[in-house]
Order: sequence, then C-alpha cells, then structure tokens
Amino acid sequence: MNKFTFLLIAGVLGSFANAQYSKEKQTEYVKTLASDEMEGRMFGTEGAKKAADYIATHFKNNNLKPCVGDSFLITFEHKEQTGYNVCGIQEGKSDEIVAFGAHFDHVGANGKGEDKIFNGADDNASGTSAVMAISDYYKKKKPKKTIMYMAFDAEEIGLIGSGKLVENPDFATYLPKMEVMYNLEMLGTVSEFGSGKVYMTGSDRSDLMKIMNDNTCKTFSVNDDPYLGQNLFMRSDNVHFFKKGVVSHSLSSVNMKTAKHYHQPSDEFKVIDMDNLSTITEGVGRVSNKLIKKGIKPSYNK
Ligand SMILES: [Zn+2]
Repeated sequence: MNKFTFLLIAGVLGSFANAQYSKEKQTEYVKTLASDEMEGRMFGTEGAKKAADYIATHFKNNNLKPCVGDSFLITFEHKEQTGYNVCGIQEGKSDEIVAFGAHFDHVGANGKGEDKIFNGADDNASGTSAVMAISDYYKKKKPKKTIMYMAFDAEEIGLIGSGKLVENPDFATYLPKMEVMYNLEMLGTVSEFGSGKVYMTGSDRSDLMKIMNDNTCKTFSVNDDPYLGQNLFMRSDNVHFFKKGVVSHSLSSVNMKTAKHYHQPSDEFKVIDMDNLSTITEGVGRVSNKLIKKGIKPSYNK
C-alpha cells in the first residue's frame, strides 16, 4: 500500500468514525414523532407531552445541558393548559449562540374521516427530526460557538410556545448572544427547486441566504421564498426571534402550490422523502459549521 492509499483509507475510516449524523437514525425520529402513539401532538395533550419527553431524552443522550434550570422542558401556561418547550445547549468556547429550532406540536386527532389522527410527519416531525439529527451531527465536534437546540410547543394555535419561550426571563438572557436561529419547518417533501434544496422565508431581509450559499456544496442550497404573497416569514416561530433582533428565518421545502397533505390526516410518514430530508439536514449542519469555523455571522439588511 502506498502512502497515498493509506492516507486515503485512513481518512475515509476517520470520517466515518466521526460521522454522528445518520439517515437511519433520523428516519427513526420522524417515524416516532409521527406515530399514532403521539396522537397528533396537539398542545395540552398527552401526545404532545410524549413528544416533548422523547426530544428531551434525545438531548440528554447527546450530552446537552438544559437551557434553563435542570430540566430540558421549559413549561408555560396558556389558557389554563400546560405546554412544554424543549431546549438543550452544547457549550462552545465562546458564548455566542448559533440556534436551531422547530415546532414539534401539531393539530391532534379529531379528523372527520376514518383516519382521525393528524400525524404531522411533514408538519413538523420533519423539522423536529432535523434539529435532533443536527445535535447528532455536532455531538463529537467541539464547535467554537455555543449551539442551542429548541423544539417549540403550541405553534399551530398561533406561535404560542416560541412566544412564551422568548419572554421567559431565564431564557431571554441568551437572546443578546444569539447570532442566528435557523427555524426548520416542513422539510419532508421535495421543493420546486429540486431534491435537497430549500427556500428561506423573508430571504430579502438579511444576508443569511447569501452567506449560506457561499459556503455550501452542490447537493444543498437555499433559494428565495417563492410564496412571498403568503407572508410565511411572519407565520412561523422565527418571528418571535426576529422581533428580539435575532437573525431568524424559516427554511422549508414544502411546495405550497401542490402540497395536498398540509394539515390533513394524510400527512403521514409515507409522504416523507428521506433522501431529501437527509440531504437538507446534513446540508444545514455542514453549512452552519462552516460559518462557525470561519467566524461569519449574518445580519439584517439596513
Ligand atoms: Zn408547521
């Protein structure tokens, strides 16, 4: 074996050993979150609590620390019901924060047809699985910056969970240090830009899309929001972070012109294109890591 071949093999083995991200594991996260057992994960239900506990256990297993107090669950009250945001942190050398978020709740189990359960596989077990899988991606890395992982409850009833989170006085201390919050929303199906391609809501408001595309590989890229008339920027959890001055957009791949599964009981695991979801998830992991390494941070346009 010549030296070059040896180095090549060692390099390949080394990269596998370090590769914490796996498509198989992510598939399991989506399937579990979208299972009938979670009963459509509606705010205030047992199913939503099960989902929150599942995500919290994952954060614990990945050696994250709770963002607030000694529990990964940050509770809040809304209309006399208790909700649970899930938040874990991986401390870096600096206290500047790069954050990933996704809502895990959905609309429950009151369907009119034979299939009563709105499993919400795409909306938003897909994005939640991406947050979980990105924590796998970073698990053995020692990123310079602090990484935060969040799963929001009560998005479907009006972005309540993320709103309560940013107003939580203990959590709010993180906000001035938060450079970016990537909100991952419906990444399970192939966008009109092709497999592995996402669009960014409100992409004209900051330089985030440009700096991501300047630091990506061919398989993953970010495109302008094709549904500007629908004002998606203001319709997901990123908006509460935006209002606090944090650069925060939603990344999505759902085709709003053709999606038939949106808020239907048919939004089940079978609508998920795992190759697409996996490419996007790894893409977001890789690009965010590159931006951290290069010390690049996004800003809103003046
Ligand atoms: Zn959603």
